[in-house]
Amino acid sequence: MSIKQRLAKLNPRQQEAVRYIDGPCLVLAGAGSGKTSVITTKIAYLVQECGMSARRIAAVTFTNKAAREMKERVGQLLKGKEGHGLTVSTFHTLGLNIIRGELKALGYKPGFSLFDPEDAKALLRDLMNKDAQVEADQINRVQHQISQWKNDLVLPGEALSHAVDDDEQYAARVYEAYVRHLKAYNAVDFDDLILLPVVLLRDDPEALARWRRKIHYMLVDEYQDTNVSQYLLVKLLMSERATFTVVGDDDQSIYAWRGARPENLVTLGEDFPRLKVVKLEQNYRSTGTILRAANTLIAHNPHVYEKTLWSQMGDGEAIRVVVNRHEEAEAERVASEILTRRIKARAEWRDFAVLYRGNFQARLLELKLQHYQIPYKLSGGTSFFSRGEIKDAMAYLRLLINPADDNAFLRIVNVPRREVGPGTLEKLANYANGQATGRGISLFAACHELGLEQVLPTRAVERLGRFTHFIDGVRKRMDQGDAIAAIREMMHDMDYEAWLHQNASAPTIAERRMANVWTLIDQLENSMQAAPEDASPEDSAASDETETDDVQSAISRLVLRDILEQQAEEDDSDRVQLLTMHASKGLEFPHVYLMGLEEELLPHRNAVEAGTVEEERRLAYVGITRARQTLTLTLARQRKAYGELMDCAPSRFLDELPEADLDWEGRADKEDPEKKQARGKDAIAGLRSLLG
Ligand code: ATP
Ligand code: MG
Repeated sequence: MSIKQRLAKLNPRQQEAVRYIDGPCLVLAGAGSGKTSVITTKIAYLVQECGMSARRIAAVTFTNKAAREMKERVGQLLKGKEGHGLTVSTFHTLGLNIIRGELKALGYKPGFSLFDPEDAKALLRDLMNKDAQVEADQINRVQHQISQWKNDLVLPGEALSHAVDDDEQYAARVYEAYVRHLKAYNAVDFDDLILLPVVLLRDDPEALARWRRKIHYMLVDEYQDTNVSQYLLVKLLMSERATFTVVGDDDQSIYAWRGARPENLVTLGEDFPRLKVVKLEQNYRSTGTILRAANTLIAHNPHVYEKTLWSQMGDGEAIRVVVNRHEEAEAERVASEILTRRIKARAEWRDFAVLYRGNFQARLLELKLQHYQIPYKLSGGTSFFSRGEIKDAMAYLRLLINPADDNAFLRIVNVPRREVGPGTLEKLANYANGQATGRGISLFAACHELGLEQVLPTRAVERLGRFTHFIDGVRKRMDQGDAIAAIREMMHDMDYEAWLHQNASAPTIAERRMANVWTLIDQLENSMQAAPEDASPEDSAASDETETDDVQSAISRLVLRDILEQQAEEDDSDRVQLLTMHASKGLEFPHVYLMGLEEELLPHRNAVEAGTVEEERRLAYVGITRARQTLTLTLARQRKAYGELMDCAPSRFLDELPEADLDWEGRADKEDPEKKQARGKDAIAGLRSLLG
């Protein structure tokens, strides 16, 4: 499809937003009104009509899934070379690329490590335990506080003056030490992926000039979920030319707990007085009934911008509300319905999505889906990357690219078993921390030191030496030739598989785990073969990357993906999608099941206690507006919590939906005998048509 044909398919307001390229542009509109469509069309418009090189364009969004979908949509518009060098990624991947291109300016060495939240927690635990034995709870609080500071662009030196009480003052001191240690480990954490580029671009005019030369136009989807640092990143890159388009919907802001600032929508107008604001009102996604439900629900929240959304799709089916005896019945019901509905509606598996508040809700459902042999894809949660064997393999990879990565070292020094006990590790850590030498070095480096003989028995020193020698050997082989082959060989040489067998309750489990590890390495290989994203601001610099650089960046990307809880395989095959409401943002499905519409779950108990029910309502709004043709809401009367069956009350949000559009099932007090009979007939008719 040419860009002209594509543009002609958009409504006049969307066209206006696409064509406006001389200044900053904000598209503010409700769900399903074609905001993302504006972004994808505009990318093609910039390239094909305005002659802008795709490598000068960066489009960012929030989740990997959304980025992938956007890439796909753009791919249909840009053919062949046209799209070459285009950046379509998450904010964090863009940040990672900036860091990789600016290592020197940032004072990092190549092969830096990316700490996931667990690694970061381990480091915090170390730092905090120096003072006293601290509880997990306190570590979590400090971690959250540090993350908030980073998202708000409060640097370690400034945190103390922001601290309002003793706890925050303590956190500020830990923050300072934490950042110092990360730097010493040549590591960055998740929040640094935005923070470091922002601080660099703010303070280093040359770096800023480099990136302004590189990126001429930015497009931001889901703008309502940007935090302060992310907003500044956009502002710094774009402030000179003010050529950007951001799209958002304040009613879909669901990341306040991660520092998102929906006020950024207002700030934008203040920072860029020339801002052109385009509002869209027609919804192209959902039936009238679904849209009415969404509008009615969200009307219970206060609004900065009034929006009216309408649809031409016709009313469609009523929204079904299915009350189940308990959670198992709920899962059973959803699975069996998908099975029959797929045939009745002549739908594909991929047309169905099941959304829920928390990942734990997927467990029972997975079992039921497996039982019916329904193919499904679980996004996020306990995905591939949270498996123990994958964490082990990742730790090996991290240690290979950065031997100073102590967390990685600790995870695998004794995996497989190398008879390195906790006592040895403690002495090694003390030695490395400088008690003997008066300086801090990494655990890996400490193993090479002669002085270690004085604190550890010879046998222990030898064991550690064997381990570091082994790793050094692999690193050498990686440098010399085929890095991936060297990694595969490493897995064989240490007989990781035998170790898995010793630790698994059944051989098939060990085999599956080993297969996962090979999948990971295959994935790494694939991502190296895929043209590496343009990491350097100067186009020419990208070509002199060596193979090890490629491995390093491929591993960094893998770690990033791990943090984003992304599943290993990029899988567009025909499967039912299981995902949290948070992860469903920006996506759409013909048939949506929303599970667990109960008080305590949606709205979540914590939100009720914290007085943030409005955000939960927006979350429900996001969930409802994913549906195109049918929407089914399910709930259970009882649910297991802390090993006990608890009674559950229906969610208050159900009362906020238009009663006339709901078709209740299984609620005794609301059961209308006539309806029941009619449904009975429906079921029989449905069965007949099923049978042909
Ligand atoms: P969300 O707020 O959920 O992210 P959105 O505003 O980004 O939604 P899109 O995903 O861009 O909305 O569009 C919703 C659906 O409407 C898509 O299937 C898209 O192809 C379709 N669509 C968008 N604009 C038009 C149009 N002008 N005519 C017909 N269909 C359209
Ligand atoms: Mg969208």
